[in-house]
Amino acid sequence: MKTIRMEEMSWPDVRAAMAAGYTTAVVAVGSTEQHGPHLPTMTDTRIGDATAHLVALKLGNALQARTIPVGCSEHHLAFGATVSLKRETLKLIVRDYVDSLVRDGFRRIIFLPSHGGNFGPLAEAIEDARKAHPGVAITGYTDLLGITGFLQGAAAEFGISAEACGAHAGDDETSLMLLLEPGLVVHERFAPGYLGPLGEKEVQTIFERGMPALTENGVLGDPRQASAEKGEVYLERLASFLVEQVG
Ligand SMILES: [Zn+2]
Repeated sequence: MKTIRMEEMSWPDVRAAMAAGYTTAVVAVGSTEQHGPHLPTMTDTRIGDATAHLVALKLGNALQARTIPVGCSEHHLAFGATVSLKRETLKLIVRDYVDSLVRDGFRRIIFLPSHGGNFGPLAEAIEDARKAHPGVAITGYTDLLGITGFLQGAAAEFGISAEACGAHAGDDETSLMLLLEPGLVVHERFAPGYLGPLGEKEVQTIFERGMPALTENGVLGDPRQASAEKGEVYLERLASFLVEQVG
């Protein structure tokens, strides 16, 4: 098989793959939103797409469905350069993905959010989809603090603090983008953002009052130690972690 990305395949290719046992679909749920002064607005979508691709490869019997490029980003709107879906809109998109993929014959569908605002609505959408399609295994990784904590653990191995790793345009996301889209990362603008704790309370503040309540430049963390080499390790670790969690 030349590719497992469904958007690069024709319908006979997809049908042949499914007949050969590729009956799991993996879908990343990204965003189009500000990512500080140094990263492009596609960051979550690009990282989600690469992660979902590696997860699908590791699973071995999976195809990757087209990545959802926008998400729930209301808390970033104050910076501009952001397109945000309403909660209900994202849930309807997920529902339509599931209905289509189930009709296609997929037996297992895995959603992987790569943006904080998508975790809650996605968890609800997955629950609804399970009720609508009881014979299909519909799962996703929807623990926001779980994934933030995992990435901070990976950062610690590089000697990067949890605060510098951050959760938005910090060490991990910047390293991943240096690996995936080096031409779109602006080194001269690397600057630290919010470097305080990031627990349930801070996450709630962000969702209720918006990112400017914590950060002036739109960054949570510090990108200054980021590198493509680290990006490769983050990507590999993240994909393995997700396979463990939802595979
Ligand atoms: Zn991001």
